[in-house]
Amino acid sequence: MPEGFRPGRNFLFVPGPTNLPESVLRAMHVPSEDHRSPRFPELTKPLFEDLKKIFKSKDGQAFIFPSSGTGAWEAAITNTLSPGDKVLAPRFGQFSHLWIQLARRHGLDVIVQEEEWGTGADPEKIEAALSEDKAHEIKAVLIVHNETATGVTSDVAAVRKAIDAASHPAMLFVDGVSSIGSIDFRMDEWGVDMAITGSQKGLMLPAGLGILCASQKALSMRDSAKCARGYFELGDYIAANENGYFPYTPAVALLHGLRASLDRLFAEGLDNVFARHHRLAGAVRAAVDAWGLELCAKEPKWHSDTVSAIMVPEGVNGGDVIKIAFERYNLSLGAGLSEVAGKLFRIGHLGDLNELMVLSGVTGAEMAMADAGIDVTLGKGVAAAQEHLRKPHDQQQSRIAAE
Ligand SMILES: *Cc1c(COP(=O)(O)O)cnc(C)c1O
Repeated sequence: MPEGFRPGRNFLFVPGPTNLPESVLRAMHVPSEDHRSPRFPELTKPLFEDLKKIFKSKDGQAFIFPSSGTGAWEAAITNTLSPGDKVLAPRFGQFSHLWIQLARRHGLDVIVQEEEWGTGADPEKIEAALSEDKAHEIKAVLIVHNETATGVTSDVAAVRKAIDAASHPAMLFVDGVSSIGSIDFRMDEWGVDMAITGSQKGLMLPAGLGILCASQKALSMRDSAKCARGYFELGDYIAANENGYFPYTPAVALLHGLRASLDRLFAEGLDNVFARHHRLAGAVRAAVDAWGLELCAKEPKWHSDTVSAIMVPEGVNGGDVIKIAFERYNLSLGAGLSEVAGKLFRIGHLGDLNELMVLSGVTGAEMAMADAGIDVTLGKGVAAAQEHLRKPHDQQQSRIAAE
Protein backbone atom coordinates (compact mmCIF):
# COMPACT_ATOMS: atom_id res chain seq x y z
CA MET A 1 0.00 0.00 0.00
CA PRO A 2 1.40 3.44 -0.79
CA GLU A 3 2.86 5.19 2.23
CA GLY A 4 0.21 7.16 4.04
CA PHE A 5 -2.72 5.75 2.07
CA ARG A 6 -5.52 4.44 4.24
CA PRO A 7 -8.56 2.89 2.56
CA GLY A 8 -11.99 3.20 4.11
CA ARG A 9 -12.71 5.66 6.84
CA ASN A 10 -11.28 6.63 10.15
CA PHE A 11 -13.41 5.57 13.11
CA LEU A 12 -13.47 8.60 15.34
CA PHE A 13 -14.10 7.72 18.97
CA VAL A 14 -12.39 10.57 20.74
CA PRO A 15 -14.86 12.51 22.87
CA GLY A 16 -14.54 15.53 20.58
CA PRO A 17 -14.28 16.51 17.86
CA THR A 18 -17.12 14.21 16.90
CA ASN A 19 -18.44 12.91 13.59
CA LEU A 20 -19.85 15.48 11.19
CA PRO A 21 -23.24 14.42 9.80
CA GLU A 22 -23.58 14.74 6.04
CA SER A 23 -26.22 17.45 6.40
CA VAL A 24 -23.86 19.51 8.54
CA LEU A 25 -20.96 19.00 6.16
CA ARG A 26 -23.05 20.06 3.20
CA ALA A 27 -24.43 23.09 4.99
CA MET A 28 -20.90 24.35 5.59
CA HIS A 29 -19.96 24.01 1.94
CA VAL A 30 -20.83 27.59 1.09
CA PRO A 31 -19.05 30.38 -0.71
CA SER A 32 -17.75 33.27 1.36
CA GLU A 33 -20.37 35.84 2.02
CA ASP A 34 -20.67 39.35 3.36
CA HIS A 35 -21.39 39.09 7.07
CA ARG A 36 -22.68 42.68 7.03
CA SER A 37 -25.24 42.10 4.29
CA PRO A 38 -28.89 42.86 5.00
CA ARG A 39 -29.69 39.14 4.61
CA PHE A 40 -27.16 37.87 7.12
CA PRO A 41 -29.45 38.27 10.17
CA GLU A 42 -31.87 35.77 8.58
CA LEU A 43 -29.27 33.15 9.41
CA THR A 44 -28.07 34.45 12.75
CA LYS A 45 -31.10 35.69 14.64
CA PRO A 46 -32.85 32.30 14.76
CA LEU A 47 -29.56 30.69 15.81
CA PHE A 48 -29.48 32.69 19.04
CA GLU A 49 -33.07 31.76 19.85
CA ASP A 50 -32.63 28.11 18.95
CA LEU A 51 -29.43 27.76 20.95
CA LYS A 52 -31.39 28.76 24.03
CA LYS A 53 -33.60 25.69 23.48
CA ILE A 54 -30.48 23.53 23.62
CA PHE A 55 -29.51 25.13 26.93
CA LYS A 56 -33.17 24.96 28.06
CA SER A 57 -33.19 28.63 28.82
CA LYS A 58 -35.95 31.15 28.18
CA ASP A 59 -34.52 33.93 30.27
CA GLY A 60 -30.88 33.75 29.21
CA GLN A 61 -28.97 35.22 26.31
CA ALA A 62 -26.86 33.11 23.97
CA PHE A 63 -23.49 34.21 22.59
CA ILE A 64 -21.38 32.69 19.84
CA PHE A 65 -17.65 33.39 19.62
CA PRO A 66 -15.19 32.29 16.97
CA SER A 67 -13.15 30.37 19.56
CA SER A 68 -13.09 26.94 21.10
CA GLY A 69 -14.90 26.14 24.34
CA THR A 70 -12.06 27.59 26.39
CA GLY A 71 -12.86 31.05 25.02
CA ALA A 72 -16.37 30.76 26.42
CA TRP A 73 -14.87 29.86 29.84
CA GLU A 74 -12.92 33.09 29.67
CA ALA A 75 -15.93 35.13 28.57
CA ALA A 76 -17.98 33.77 31.48
CA ILE A 77 -15.35 34.70 34.04
CA THR A 78 -14.13 38.06 32.80
CA ASN A 79 -17.57 39.55 32.20
CA THR A 80 -18.86 38.81 35.70
CA LEU A 81 -15.96 38.83 38.17
CA SER A 82 -13.08 40.97 39.42
CA PRO A 83 -9.50 40.06 40.31
CA GLY A 84 -9.37 38.92 43.93
CA ASP A 85 -12.95 37.59 43.87
CA LYS A 86 -13.33 34.20 45.50
CA VAL A 87 -14.84 31.37 43.50
CA LEU A 88 -15.44 27.78 44.58
CA ALA A 89 -14.45 25.00 42.20
CA PRO A 90 -14.33 21.24 42.68
CA ARG A 91 -11.46 19.61 40.77
CA PHE A 92 -11.74 16.01 39.60
CA GLY A 93 -10.15 15.85 36.17
CA GLN A 94 -8.17 17.68 33.54
CA PHE A 95 -10.99 19.96 32.40
CA SER A 96 -11.99 21.11 35.87
CA HIS A 97 -8.26 21.65 36.45
CA LEU A 98 -7.83 23.78 33.32
CA TRP A 99 -10.83 25.94 34.13
CA ILE A 100 -9.41 26.60 37.60
CA GLN A 101 -6.08 27.50 36.03
CA LEU A 102 -7.76 29.92 33.65
CA ALA A 103 -9.68 31.53 36.54
CA ARG A 104 -6.40 32.00 38.42
CA ARG A 105 -4.79 33.61 35.38
CA HIS A 106 -7.52 36.22 35.59
CA GLY A 107 -6.59 36.89 39.20
CA LEU A 108 -9.46 35.07 40.85
CA ASP A 109 -8.97 33.52 44.27
CA VAL A 110 -10.06 29.96 43.55
CA ILE A 111 -11.02 27.79 46.49
CA VAL A 112 -10.42 24.32 45.11
CA GLN A 113 -12.32 21.33 46.46
CA GLU A 114 -10.20 18.32 45.54
CA GLU A 115 -12.26 15.27 44.63
CA GLU A 116 -10.92 11.89 43.68
CA TRP A 117 -10.63 11.55 39.88
CA GLY A 118 -13.48 9.25 38.94
CA THR A 119 -15.90 11.13 41.17
CA GLY A 120 -17.42 14.55 40.72
CA ALA A 121 -18.79 17.61 42.47
CA ASP A 122 -19.89 16.94 46.06
CA PRO A 123 -23.04 18.97 46.83
CA GLU A 124 -22.65 18.46 50.60
CA LYS A 125 -19.16 19.91 50.61
CA ILE A 126 -20.31 22.78 48.44
CA GLU A 127 -23.18 23.50 50.82
CA ALA A 128 -20.78 23.39 53.78
CA ALA A 129 -18.28 25.75 52.17
CA LEU A 130 -21.01 28.20 51.23
CA SER A 131 -22.65 28.02 54.66
CA GLU A 132 -19.34 28.92 56.26
CA ASP A 133 -18.95 31.89 53.97
CA LYS A 134 -21.12 34.21 56.06
CA ALA A 135 -19.74 37.33 54.40
CA HIS A 136 -20.71 35.99 50.97
CA GLU A 137 -17.22 36.47 49.61
CA ILE A 138 -17.62 33.53 47.22
CA LYS A 139 -19.00 35.04 44.05
CA ALA A 140 -19.41 31.95 41.89
CA VAL A 141 -19.34 28.16 41.92
CA LEU A 142 -17.66 26.57 38.87
CA ILE A 143 -18.78 23.07 37.93
CA VAL A 144 -17.76 20.89 35.00
CA HIS A 145 -21.00 19.04 34.29
CA ASN A 146 -19.36 16.25 32.33
CA GLU A 147 -15.66 15.75 33.09
CA THR A 148 -14.47 14.48 29.75
CA ALA A 149 -11.12 13.32 31.11
CA THR A 150 -12.63 10.74 33.45
CA GLY A 151 -16.10 10.10 32.04
CA VAL A 152 -17.88 11.52 35.08
CA THR A 153 -21.16 13.44 35.10
CA SER A 154 -21.94 15.57 38.13
CA ASP A 155 -25.41 16.35 39.40
CA VAL A 156 -25.87 20.05 38.67
CA ALA A 157 -29.42 20.08 40.06
CA ALA A 158 -28.00 18.89 43.38
CA VAL A 159 -25.37 21.62 43.30
CA ARG A 160 -28.12 24.19 42.77
CA LYS A 161 -29.98 22.73 45.76
CA ALA A 162 -26.80 22.97 47.83
CA ILE A 163 -26.35 26.65 46.95
CA ASP A 164 -29.99 27.33 47.84
CA ALA A 165 -29.76 25.32 51.06
CA ALA A 166 -26.89 27.56 52.14
CA SER A 167 -28.99 30.61 51.16
CA HIS A 168 -25.93 31.84 49.33
CA PRO A 169 -26.07 34.35 46.47
CA ALA A 170 -23.11 32.88 44.54
CA MET A 171 -23.59 32.52 40.81
CA LEU A 172 -23.46 29.05 39.27
CA PHE A 173 -21.23 28.60 36.22
CA VAL A 174 -21.38 25.27 34.42
CA ASP A 175 -19.09 23.86 31.76
CA GLY A 176 -21.39 21.78 29.59
CA VAL A 177 -18.97 21.39 26.71
CA SER A 178 -19.28 17.60 26.55
CA SER A 179 -22.84 17.37 27.87
CA ILE A 180 -24.96 20.06 26.23
CA GLY A 181 -26.83 18.57 23.27
CA SER A 182 -26.11 15.01 24.47
CA ILE A 183 -27.02 14.82 28.16
CA ASP A 184 -29.99 16.63 29.68
CA PHE A 185 -29.08 20.17 30.66
CA ARG A 186 -31.57 22.61 32.20
CA MET A 187 -30.14 26.06 32.50
CA ASP A 188 -33.18 27.90 33.89
CA GLU A 189 -34.46 25.08 36.06
CA TRP A 190 -31.03 24.59 37.64
CA GLY A 191 -30.47 28.31 38.04
CA VAL A 192 -27.29 28.25 35.98
CA ASP A 193 -25.86 31.74 35.44
CA MET A 194 -23.26 30.92 32.82
CA ALA A 195 -23.50 27.78 30.70
CA ILE A 196 -20.64 27.03 28.37
CA THR A 197 -20.24 24.80 25.37
CA GLY A 198 -18.28 24.44 22.16
CA SER A 199 -19.13 23.36 18.65
CA GLN A 200 -17.13 20.15 18.31
CA LYS A 201 -18.89 17.78 20.72
CA GLY A 202 -22.65 17.30 21.04
CA LEU A 203 -23.25 19.91 18.35
CA MET A 204 -21.47 17.73 15.75
CA LEU A 205 -19.50 20.59 14.20
CA PRO A 206 -15.83 21.23 13.68
CA ALA A 207 -14.11 23.06 16.52
CA GLY A 208 -14.25 26.81 16.19
CA LEU A 209 -17.28 28.10 18.04
CA GLY A 210 -17.33 28.90 21.73
CA ILE A 211 -20.93 29.13 22.87
CA LEU A 212 -22.20 30.74 26.04
CA CYS A 213 -25.60 31.24 27.57
CA ALA A 214 -25.76 33.93 30.25
CA SER A 215 -28.53 34.50 32.79
CA GLN A 216 -29.84 38.01 33.39
CA LYS A 217 -28.16 37.91 36.79
CA ALA A 218 -24.81 37.16 35.16
CA LEU A 219 -25.32 39.93 32.62
CA SER A 220 -26.12 42.40 35.39
CA MET A 221 -22.60 41.83 36.77
CA ARG A 222 -20.92 43.30 33.70
CA ASP A 223 -20.65 46.84 35.02
CA SER A 224 -19.08 45.90 38.32
CA ALA A 225 -16.81 43.14 36.91
CA LYS A 226 -13.24 44.42 36.76
CA CYS A 227 -11.47 41.51 35.06
CA ALA A 228 -9.68 42.80 31.99
CA ARG A 229 -11.49 41.88 28.82
CA GLY A 230 -10.83 42.64 25.23
CA TYR A 231 -12.02 40.21 22.62
CA PHE A 232 -14.66 38.71 24.93
CA GLU A 233 -16.27 41.97 26.07
CA LEU A 234 -19.92 40.91 26.00
CA GLY A 235 -21.07 44.48 25.58
CA ASP A 236 -19.72 44.48 22.03
CA TYR A 237 -21.57 41.26 21.23
CA ILE A 238 -24.81 42.40 22.83
CA ALA A 239 -24.84 45.57 20.75
CA ALA A 240 -24.06 43.82 17.46
CA ASN A 241 -26.05 40.61 18.04
CA GLU A 242 -29.18 42.62 18.72
CA ASN A 243 -29.44 43.18 14.97
CA GLY A 244 -28.06 39.81 13.97
CA TYR A 245 -24.47 40.95 13.44
CA PHE A 246 -21.16 40.39 15.19
CA PRO A 247 -18.53 42.82 16.42
CA TYR A 248 -15.81 40.88 14.57
CA THR A 249 -15.81 38.56 11.57
CA PRO A 250 -17.92 35.56 12.51
CA ALA A 251 -17.09 32.00 11.46
CA VAL A 252 -19.81 32.05 8.82
CA ALA A 253 -19.40 28.51 7.49
CA LEU A 254 -19.65 27.18 11.03
CA LEU A 255 -22.81 29.20 11.59
CA HIS A 256 -24.37 27.47 8.57
CA GLY A 257 -23.24 24.19 10.07
CA LEU A 258 -24.78 25.15 13.38
CA ARG A 259 -28.11 25.75 11.65
CA ALA A 260 -28.00 22.23 10.22
CA SER A 261 -26.88 20.76 13.53
CA LEU A 262 -29.69 22.40 15.49
CA ASP A 263 -32.20 21.29 12.85
CA ARG A 264 -30.97 17.74 13.30
CA LEU A 265 -31.20 17.84 17.08
CA PHE A 266 -34.73 19.26 16.91
CA ALA A 267 -35.78 16.72 14.26
CA GLU A 268 -34.71 13.85 16.49
CA GLY A 269 -36.07 15.60 19.58
CA LEU A 270 -33.81 16.48 22.49
CA ASP A 271 -35.26 13.80 24.76
CA ASN A 272 -34.66 11.18 22.08
CA VAL A 273 -31.12 12.46 21.65
CA PHE A 274 -30.49 12.01 25.37
CA ALA A 275 -32.11 8.56 25.39
CA ARG A 276 -29.97 7.49 22.43
CA HIS A 277 -26.80 8.62 24.16
CA HIS A 278 -27.84 6.73 27.27
CA ARG A 279 -28.44 3.53 25.33
CA LEU A 280 -25.23 3.74 23.34
CA ALA A 281 -23.27 4.50 26.51
CA GLY A 282 -24.92 1.50 28.14
CA ALA A 283 -23.60 -0.69 25.34
CA VAL A 284 -20.05 0.51 25.91
CA ARG A 285 -20.40 -0.01 29.66
CA ALA A 286 -21.72 -3.53 29.06
CA ALA A 287 -18.62 -4.25 26.99
CA VAL A 288 -16.32 -2.89 29.70
CA ASP A 289 -18.02 -5.18 32.22
CA ALA A 290 -17.64 -8.17 29.94
CA TRP A 291 -13.95 -7.41 29.48
CA GLY A 292 -13.58 -7.53 33.26
CA LEU A 293 -12.29 -3.98 33.27
CA GLU A 294 -13.25 -0.97 35.34
CA LEU A 295 -14.36 2.49 34.37
CA CYS A 296 -12.52 5.42 35.86
CA ALA A 297 -15.95 6.58 37.11
CA LYS A 298 -16.17 5.04 40.57
CA GLU A 299 -19.90 4.49 40.82
CA PRO A 300 -22.86 4.24 38.46
CA LYS A 301 -24.12 7.64 39.63
CA TRP A 302 -21.06 9.20 37.99
CA HIS A 303 -21.37 7.34 34.68
CA SER A 304 -21.19 9.65 31.70
CA ASP A 305 -23.41 9.03 28.70
CA THR A 306 -20.95 10.77 26.36
CA VAL A 307 -17.57 9.29 27.23
CA SER A 308 -16.28 6.18 28.96
CA ALA A 309 -12.80 6.23 30.45
CA ILE A 310 -11.63 2.63 30.69
CA MET A 311 -8.86 1.69 33.13
CA VAL A 312 -6.24 -0.64 31.68
CA PRO A 313 -4.74 -3.34 33.90
CA GLU A 314 -1.54 -2.70 35.83
CA GLY A 315 1.51 -3.14 33.62
CA VAL A 316 -0.25 -2.07 30.43
CA ASN A 317 0.05 1.42 29.01
CA GLY A 318 -3.27 2.80 27.78
CA GLY A 319 -1.24 4.76 25.25
CA ASP A 320 -0.26 1.48 23.56
CA VAL A 321 -3.89 0.51 23.09
CA ILE A 322 -4.57 3.88 21.48
CA LYS A 323 -1.52 3.65 19.23
CA ILE A 324 -2.34 0.13 18.06
CA ALA A 325 -5.99 1.04 17.49
CA PHE A 326 -4.95 3.92 15.29
CA GLU A 327 -2.17 2.24 13.37
CA ARG A 328 -3.73 -1.17 12.77
CA TYR A 329 -7.44 -0.44 12.71
CA ASN A 330 -7.78 3.25 11.83
CA LEU A 331 -9.65 3.76 15.08
CA SER A 332 -9.11 6.93 17.10
CA LEU A 333 -9.57 6.50 20.85
CA GLY A 334 -9.12 9.16 23.51
CA ALA A 335 -5.98 9.27 25.65
CA GLY A 336 -5.65 9.50 29.42
CA LEU A 337 -4.79 13.07 30.38
CA SER A 338 -2.47 14.30 33.10
CA GLU A 339 -2.96 12.29 36.34
CA VAL A 340 -4.48 9.39 34.46
CA ALA A 341 -2.08 9.45 31.48
CA GLY A 342 -1.31 5.87 30.43
CA LYS A 343 -3.75 4.46 32.97
CA LEU A 344 -6.80 4.54 30.78
CA PHE A 345 -8.13 5.08 27.32
CA ARG A 346 -11.41 6.74 26.44
CA ILE A 347 -14.19 5.87 24.08
CA GLY A 348 -16.19 8.93 23.14
CA HIS A 349 -19.80 8.08 22.34
CA LEU A 350 -21.46 11.37 21.59
CA GLY A 351 -22.81 13.24 18.66
CA ASP A 352 -23.85 11.66 15.39
CA LEU A 353 -23.68 8.02 16.38
CA ASN A 354 -25.88 4.93 16.17
CA GLU A 355 -25.84 1.31 17.25
CA LEU A 356 -23.58 -0.18 14.61
CA MET A 357 -21.20 2.74 14.76
CA VAL A 358 -20.76 2.22 18.49
CA LEU A 359 -20.16 -1.47 17.92
CA SER A 360 -17.34 -0.62 15.52
CA GLY A 361 -15.58 1.30 18.27
CA VAL A 362 -16.10 -1.49 20.76
CA THR A 363 -14.81 -4.08 18.26
CA GLY A 364 -11.71 -2.08 17.46
CA ALA A 365 -10.95 -1.34 21.10
CA GLU A 366 -11.31 -5.03 21.89
CA MET A 367 -8.85 -6.00 19.15
CA ALA A 368 -6.38 -3.31 20.12
CA MET A 369 -6.52 -4.36 23.77
CA ALA A 370 -5.89 -7.98 22.86
CA ASP A 371 -2.95 -6.87 20.69
CA ALA A 372 -1.58 -4.78 23.55
CA GLY A 373 -1.49 -7.88 25.74
CA ILE A 374 -4.62 -7.30 27.79
CA ASP A 375 -6.36 -10.53 28.65
CA VAL A 376 -9.67 -10.04 26.86
CA THR A 377 -11.56 -12.73 24.99
CA LEU A 378 -12.31 -11.55 21.48
CA GLY A 379 -16.02 -11.07 20.93
CA LYS A 380 -16.98 -10.94 24.58
CA GLY A 381 -17.28 -7.19 24.90
CA VAL A 382 -18.88 -6.93 21.48
CA ALA A 383 -21.47 -9.57 22.37
CA ALA A 384 -22.33 -7.82 25.62
CA ALA A 385 -22.75 -4.54 23.76
CA GLN A 386 -24.89 -6.27 21.11
CA GLU A 387 -27.10 -7.81 23.77
CA HIS A 388 -27.53 -4.43 25.37
CA LEU A 389 -28.50 -2.81 22.09
CA ARG A 390 -30.97 -5.59 21.24
CA LYS A 391 -32.93 -5.08 24.45
CA PRO A 392 -36.32 -3.49 23.93
CA HIS A 393 -36.42 0.09 25.02
CA ASP A 394 -39.50 2.05 25.87
CA GLN A 395 -38.09 5.29 24.59
CA GLN A 396 -37.92 4.21 20.98
CA GLN A 397 -35.90 6.86 19.21
CA SER A 398 -37.70 8.77 16.53
CA ARG A 399 -36.16 8.58 13.11
CA ILE A 400 -34.31 11.63 12.00
CA ALA A 401 -36.28 13.35 9.25
CA ALA A 402 -34.89 12.61 5.81
CA GLU A 403 -32.20 15.07 4.97
C1 LIG B 1 -13.59 19.86 25.13
C2 LIG B 1 -13.86 20.46 26.46
C3 LIG B 1 -13.59 21.80 26.77
C4 LIG B 1 -13.13 22.84 25.80
O1 LIG B 1 -12.03 22.61 25.13
P1 LIG B 1 -11.69 23.41 23.79
O2 LIG B 1 -10.58 22.61 23.28
O3 LIG B 1 -11.29 24.78 24.21
O4 LIG B 1 -12.91 23.42 22.95
C5 LIG B 1 -13.91 22.28 28.01
N1 LIG B 1 -14.48 21.49 28.93
C6 LIG B 1 -14.78 20.21 28.68
C7 LIG B 1 -15.44 19.42 29.73
C8 LIG B 1 -14.47 19.65 27.45
O5 LIG B 1 -14.79 18.37 27.20
